[in-house]
Amino acid sequence: MEGMKRPSLILLVLALILLSACQTAPVTGRSQLILIPESMEIELGLTSYKETLKKAKLSEDKEVIDMVNRVGERIAAVADRKDYKWEFNVIQDDKVVNAFALPGGKVAVYTGILKYTENEAGLAAVMGHEVAHALIRHGGERISAGILAQLGMVGLSVAVKNKDPVAISAINQAYGIGVNVGVLLPFGRSQELEADRVGLVLMARAGYDPNEAVAFWGRMMKAKDKAPPEFLSTHPATDRRVKELKQWIPEAMKYYNPK
Ligand SMILES: [Zn+2]
Repeated sequence: MEGMKRPSLILLVLALILLSACQTAPVTGRSQLILIPESMEIELGLTSYKETLKKAKLSEDKEVIDMVNRVGERIAAVADRKDYKWEFNVIQDDKVVNAFALPGGKVAVYTGILKYTENEAGLAAVMGHEVAHALIRHGGERISAGILAQLGMVGLSVAVKNKDPVAISAINQAYGIGVNVGVLLPFGRSQELEADRVGLVLMARAGYDPNEAVAFWGRMMKAKDKAPPEFLSTHPATDRRVKELKQWIPEAMKYYNPK
């Protein structure tokens, strides 16, 4: 009989974890199961951000830095996360077509993507999309499924505390920071669609015409036939995606607040 108590206690604890781990995605209202606490995700994000910036060469082009900060701050202002410590950096590497945002508000844009964003609204499309991934905690969802199964919660919290490379690499993979990782796993299709939809609302509320996101993805579609940029390995550009993106334009236009 003694042995019977244990499994039920474990089940109770598990049920409590699951209850506390459920959250609802903004705008779309989808319910999510995220086992890693947000505080841990933010801590991991901060460590990974520092490491990435330390290894990178930061841009010294004041005009570009100002633009990325301007767009970033406008998006941050409508992201409803006053607790985030927002920071925007430009990494000087014309060969890397990528950008990422981490929970906690840490954002980086590689100069290589600027030839595709073309203008501030195009940049707002990319940054809005990346910030949406962070706000919805898509990386957290991916970590729950993968690394947690290997390490377990206690193992993961120790790894986070020790800034273990396994944990850092997990958050890098989860949020598409690929330069030093090697293999980039694409976000799931439903996560991409969700980030597109929320990203459109963010850019619109920040005062950028959401139609510019469609134009940006059109330019990425053309680019993929040549050398596919890093951005496309985590964010596949397909006809279907552009079609679905267009479907969300009327919703986003309701939030459009031209500045
Ligand atoms: Zn994405």
